[in-house]
Amino acid sequence: MFNPARRMQGLTSAIFSEVDELRKKEVAAGNDVITLSIGSPDMAPAAHIIEALKNAVIEPHSYGYTLSKGTPRFLAAVAEWYGKNYNVKLDPETEIHSLMGSQDGLAHIALCFANPGDVVLVPDPGYPIFSAGPSIAGAELYRMPLTAANHYLPDLDSLPENVLRRTKLMIINYPNNPLAATATPEFYQRVVALAHEYQFLVCSDFAYSELVFDGYKPESFLSIPGAREIGIEFNSLSKTYNMAGCRVAFVVGNSQAIAELGRLKSNFDYGIFYPVQQAAVAALTGPQDCVKATADTYRRRRDILVDGLNNAGWPVDRPRASMYIWAPVPAAQLSVDFTIDLLKNTGVAVIPGKAFGQCGEGFVRIALVQPEVRLKEAVHRIQTWFGKLNR
Ligand SMILES: *Cc1c(COP(=O)(O)O)cnc(C)c1O
Repeated sequence: MFNPARRMQGLTSAIFSEVDELRKKEVAAGNDVITLSIGSPDMAPAAHIIEALKNAVIEPHSYGYTLSKGTPRFLAAVAEWYGKNYNVKLDPETEIHSLMGSQDGLAHIALCFANPGDVVLVPDPGYPIFSAGPSIAGAELYRMPLTAANHYLPDLDSLPENVLRRTKLMIINYPNNPLAATATPEFYQRVVALAHEYQFLVCSDFAYSELVFDGYKPESFLSIPGAREIGIEFNSLSKTYNMAGCRVAFVVGNSQAIAELGRLKSNFDYGIFYPVQQAAVAALTGPQDCVKATADTYRRRRDILVDGLNNAGWPVDRPRASMYIWAPVPAAQLSVDFTIDLLKNTGVAVIPGKAFGQCGEGFVRIALVQPEVRLKEAVHRIQTWFGKLNR
């Protein structure tokens, strides 16, 4: 009866829904499905975080509008956390803004800075909101291929001059979803130089900053000299503190960009529920051993999967960050077809790489969001299936 607006056309994630429908069918048929598809943390926040939420929830004064910038305590907690963890000094007044999940900021930033026809540089493969946001804003997407040959970094030299001249935003994301790749300070320096030359805003999505292993510690994009003049960084409590359902995150950096996003958001929302902000303060300023425990859990899971798949004859890399394995399709098959075969034959649900963009074809993303016993079971089933295929 209704014709959806044209801007809705950019929002089709047909592959995600197709594969998830199939997964639901398998579950409904009573099959034991091991869901390693959606990247939603399966662990709980630390007790002191839940306690802070609980204490605030029972206070009658906790229920008013908070207004969208963030409470002074929340903003101070973010400033302290960034200073301590990344040696980046931020002014809580002008360089920090709360978000209802980084999704909130990533979805809306192009509305602030891109007119229809302006270009937004997005990674391919990439997290879907990177292109959905600009596409809603009517911007033109330029997809930067992330390939193994270039260490999964965009090849900045290959960006055409006529594209750069029309570019308003560039989105980068390290440690990366879905690739689990990491960036180097040299790469960030080149991005800063390019953004200064062509005067565009760089949006660094740093959601996996704390899910790092083997002694690896990423730097914040904002720690690069000159970055604050052209860049903002998104971070979130979703993965670091297992608070994905709380919808609490923040954006930091360039004060003009923060002010514009704040101005837009003040029209859309009236801020994050006060108890959730209190829980975030407890998370950011409280003991951080829970973060190390979470990262250790993902590292052990990573090793189970990487060792198990390699033993099964499926060669995959061992990432030093994120909660994903980016695995080449181990057969002469499209990623969607392999994903369906894998689900039907083993009950293991993953996401076909193509769902993250054309350059994701040939790979699948495996999310480490099940306990070790389930991952061992997944490995066992895959080994058994491969054994049958080779007989
Ligand atoms: C999970 C994730 C986020 C976090 O999103 P929230 O909206 O903060 O929950 C951001 N970016 C990427 C790439 C992610 O995978």
